Amino acid sequence: MKILILGGTTEARALAGALAGRDEFSVTLSLAGRTANPLPQAVPTRIGGFGGAEGLERYLRQERIEALIDATHPYAAIISANAARAAERAKVPLLALRRPAWTKVEGDQWTEVANMHDAVAALGTVPRRVFLAMGRKEIEPFTAAPEHVYLVRSVDPVDPPLAVPHAIYLTARGPFSEVDDRALLDRQNIDAVVAKNSGGDASYGKIAAARALHLPVILLERPALPDAETVETVEDVFAWLDHALTSAEARGV
Ligand code: NAP
Repeated sequence: MKILILGGTTEARALAGALAGRDEFSVTLSLAGRTANPLPQAVPTRIGGFGGAEGLERYLRQERIEALIDATHPYAAIISANAARAAERAKVPLLALRRPAWTKVEGDQWTEVANMHDAVAALGTVPRRVFLAMGRKEIEPFTAAPEHVYLVRSVDPVDPPLAVPHAIYLTARGPFSEVDDRALLDRQNIDAVVAKNSGGDASYGKIAAARALHLPVILLERPALPDAETVETVEDVFAWLDHALTSAEARGV
């Protein structure tokens, strides 16, 4: 069975690693190409956009893909919408692997906002020291609030730097632990954290650290994603694929 995994996440990498050992599946992993040096993957990888839903549909047909797994980041809403459209048109079964969002627990001081512009507004005008754990594309709106000091942590360097007078840059790839993030926020005298509600463990460290340090977190709400059959774990993907394989065999495909 030929499978295309739309990846860019820890889960997609883990899924590819687990499927690599199964002879009955031939797997390709697709990455957007957002990071300069992606981690090695256990299966053949293609990098770069398909050219919208039409391009992805064409790829599914040309490569005779028999199952599409959307294991993209919960904020990568365009590719998920494209996946739903392309899978429907090419009549390829689609499964989404999505991490549940984090939910607030005792001690969290969250302000949930709809977009980055609202996140900037939520900081207020009194100068603060703000931790931004996100990449260049997303932090641009913070140039509208140059009064704050920004600590920016991203996988690749922010180049060119943000057009604000006070910014500190850190390049690092997760996972990040609560202990390390707590030390970082403490050392840098951070008084507000802006984050996406990514879910999962790899980037929860800053949320737990903010709670421990009694810091407010401005949390970007998740984008709307298309309706699709959805599971939350790599094991559930396996069960779905095994079922799809058995059904195909029963049909004599
Ligand atoms: P997006 O807005 O959903 O996608 C934009 C375009 O990138 C898509 O239309 C598609 O181009 C291409 N693309 C995205 N994922 C792809 C994949 N797996 N394989 C091939 N092409 C892909 O996603 P985004 O711009 O990458 O990211 C949006 C948000 O998700 C950001 O908040 C980002 O931090 C977060 N995020 C993304 C990734 C990632 O790997 N993409 C990882 C971590 C976090 P075509 O239309 O040309 O096919």
